[in-house]
Amino acid sequence: MTYEGHMTIGGKPVTGDEWVSVPNPAHLSAVVGRYPQGTIEHVEQAVEAASSAFPDWRATPVAERAALLAQAGALLAQPRDEWVSLLTAENGKLLREAVIDIAMGGEAISVYASHPEWTQDRVVDDERGRLVVRKQPLGVCVGIVPWNFPLTLASLKVGPALLAGNTLIIKVPEFAPLTTLRALGEMAALLPPGVLNIVSGYGPEVGRALVTHPKVRKIAFTGSTETGRQIMADASGHLARLTLELGGNDAAVLLDDVDLSDEAIGRIVTGAFMYSGQICIDIKRLYVHESRYDELVDRLSVAVDKIVVGDGARPEVTMGPINNARQYDKVTKLLAETKRDADCVQLGSYADGTDVEDGYFLLPHLVLDPPDEMKVVATEQMAPILPVMKFSSDEEAVTRANGTEYGLGASVWSSDRDRAFSVADRMEAGMTFINGHSLFALHPDAPAGGAKQSGHGYEMSQEALEGYTQLQAITNTYTQL
Ligand code: NAD
Repeated sequence: MTYEGHMTIGGKPVTGDEWVSVPNPAHLSAVVGRYPQGTIEHVEQAVEAASSAFPDWRATPVAERAALLAQAGALLAQPRDEWVSLLTAENGKLLREAVIDIAMGGEAISVYASHPEWTQDRVVDDERGRLVVRKQPLGVCVGIVPWNFPLTLASLKVGPALLAGNTLIIKVPEFAPLTTLRALGEMAALLPPGVLNIVSGYGPEVGRALVTHPKVRKIAFTGSTETGRQIMADASGHLARLTLELGGNDAAVLLDDVDLSDEAIGRIVTGAFMYSGQICIDIKRLYVHESRYDELVDRLSVAVDKIVVGDGARPEVTMGPINNARQYDKVTKLLAETKRDADCVQLGSYADGTDVEDGYFLLPHLVLDPPDEMKVVATEQMAPILPVMKFSSDEEAVTRANGTEYGLGASVWSSDRDRAFSVADRMEAGMTFINGHSLFALHPDAPAGGAKQSGHGYEMSQEALEGYTQLQAITNTYTQL
């Protein structure tokens, strides 16, 4: 049975004249469902609905907004089996990765539900009079999300935007949007109509119409750096505020005293190959001290060779397919180029019965000591292809890790905590981890955001909420100089 998604605008399900079909990346001959191809008219309707809902929502006491958000978070906290299966089928994730995507979304919203005090005014009363610094909502906000972790990434916008008193339109990705349309549609029904709207459609049409709409006060975008650049230019017309969570080319630096136990190797494999290397903060480049290079490559090869590729719905599979044709074409070309110019080792195996031609499957690869200039090192590959390079001093490792326009995540691995923190201090990355580098290394209270061309602003934490508010200083002071 296939699933038919719908948009949610002003509390109502909305479809259109055109539909977009969603394939299963593990069984390309099977259709998972279809979703409405949104249009500029749908954007108008969504902005109108969010605008109309804004005055009442901002006037709703924050405790009530927080209570509704608690219900919204709870909806995702225990992912329903049918949502998990749908997400795996359309996205290619393992079932447990689908659970993580949905449940992390629930957590991302619940954090804001439990901190209504983050919106509190600052009040100063003294001999000069009264100063009240208010955190005012901005109005209609837009969240634009990519296909890789759509539930989590949409929820990271829902929590702070709605707690602060804004109304929101989420634009789901064109690849694998069905579960997000479904779950967020149910979430919208818990809230007053128009507070949360969900639209589908193509980025250059629907996304761009949202970004350029003069009534949209803020755009929170997660996606590629290239699209982020376009959005920044488009938003300049009406000076909409921006949060940009963009691409990365994360380096992991393994110092000479790194622990290479099974546990540590397991963390590295998770960091580089979870969700087929398609997570923004996956390890994209691995730098290891030359004295530990051979040992690392040996141990890592053994562990990566255990990866079983196939349909993520099957329990024995540990790595699903690449999500979509665009990404698959890009990474298979990159792999062919890499094999031609570098020492590239193919590892892992396919699950029994996998029809390799009927899915976007790719076995994991290690690329042995390629030069930093090679495309597989210098660009964000978003694939299960990990380049491993040698270095001879900490200074050299830091310089090479920082030698990119990106600055999303990075990690330092060492048995000496103080040394690791000291090296981490020199890494140009918004999120710098020690002895870990994956979703599991994220601290729930830490702001997540990129340095350099990996982004502007933050998600998660109180810092993210600030991005959805406008400070208003109200005073009755009058000091004649
Ligand atoms: P993408 O930029 O192609 O698309 C992301 C979203 O933007 C989609 O919903 C798309 O429809 C929309 N879009 C495209 N063009 C647009 C336009 N002109 N105006 C408005 N919206 C537009 O990215 P993708 O390929 O879907 O996602 C992969 C990228 O996302 C990678 O670079 C990855 O690193 C990045 N990412 C970053 C983070 C982070 O937190 N920094 C998290 C996940 C993914």
